[in-house]
Amino acid sequence: MLTPNRNYANLKDSYLFFRISKQVAAYRAKHPDLPVYRLGIGDVSRPLCGAVIEALHHAVEDQAAADTFHGYTPECGIPEFRLAVAGYYARRGVQPDPEEIFVSSGASDELGDILDLFDPASAALVTQPAYPAYVDASIMAGRKVSFLSAGSENDFLPLPGKDTDADLLYLCSPNNPTGAVYNREQLQQWVDFANDRGAVILFDAAYEAFIEGDLPHSIFEIPGAEKCAIEICSLSKTAGFTGTRLGYTVIPKALERGGMNLNAMWVRNRTTKTNGISYILQKAGIAVFTGKGQRQIYENIRYYKQNARVLMEALDRAGIRYWGGKNAPYIWMACPKGMKSWDFFDLMLDRIQVIGTPGEGFGASGEGFFRLSSFGDAKETRIAAERIQSLVQGL
Ligand code: PLP
Repeated sequence: MLTPNRNYANLKDSYLFFRISKQVAAYRAKHPDLPVYRLGIGDVSRPLCGAVIEALHHAVEDQAAADTFHGYTPECGIPEFRLAVAGYYARRGVQPDPEEIFVSSGASDELGDILDLFDPASAALVTQPAYPAYVDASIMAGRKVSFLSAGSENDFLPLPGKDTDADLLYLCSPNNPTGAVYNREQLQQWVDFANDRGAVILFDAAYEAFIEGDLPHSIFEIPGAEKCAIEICSLSKTAGFTGTRLGYTVIPKALERGGMNLNAMWVRNRTTKTNGISYILQKAGIAVFTGKGQRQIYENIRYYKQNARVLMEALDRAGIRYWGGKNAPYIWMACPKGMKSWDFFDLMLDRIQVIGTPGEGFGASGEGFFRLSSFGDAKETRIAAERIQSLVQGL
């Protein structure tokens, strides 16, 4: 008889967003006339920019005529897309070979698929609080997972210590949910750790476009990273592709473990397990990296950043400590009066009809904290910010 993958039995119920939506639905059923203000979403609200829409239309037209029609695309990405991404990196002084860039249908897909490259016996280390997919994908693959807790004492940027142990290491900067961003010196510590230990860093850069100022957008800005890191990127938050689906992954040709080359292994993987990503979507992705595309996507990013500013100013006025917001679309606030995160969630919903995300949902070390998202509508965000301020001031 067939044996299923028993690792699935080791998964904990992913109840965070389910529980939130259930509680919100129950509240709305009881109070149908009250509007609710959603600061809990991790999805974007602005539409795709004009340059992307134009490219999508053109690509669809290409598919309508025999002489411009495209069938299967190369599994690792159409050369024009790989060149466009390489050009994007070059602006920051990182010079990847286009063959080190792989197109993907998004970071979530890739975070799961990439585990094919590693022996399930190699243990994963996840800094926590964390995006839930790291842990669940590792457990599905039968991998042992341990945690490195981040907290206010290290500004949610944990660093390797003498007891830190990992084969596979997840880092996310700017971080979801905390909004914290590693600086160069801190990332160098992780790169040195990984190279000394023979570990591999899976660097999730889904929010790199939100960084302002002189902080690394890519782990490959750090010397030595080409020998120990894989970078997973997404156009979801950068360019509003959450429903369109496109991303890219960088695997340096210099990355080798146990005499095997991980870039060559990923080529082998993609050419076996995929038949490429849609021509139409890759053309849309190329448009993101043009001058026009970049100007337009940053208009949307500025819109979200203005929302974040409105929320941060309200928290400042209310005397609440928070992290993130400046270089990330998320604000990670301490719950007032030492409240637990689900209690604060209930209080916000009940008293001011504002929905956020309880920190406990991102792991035990998120308890006592709360995530606010800046991806919503500007007017609703302003109302929600005023309500949070007066709620907290009245406690
Ligand atoms: N990584 C992080 C840290 C995220 O927050 C998200 C989505 O919210 C993803 C990856 C997934 O992105 P994608 O839409 O490309 O699958």
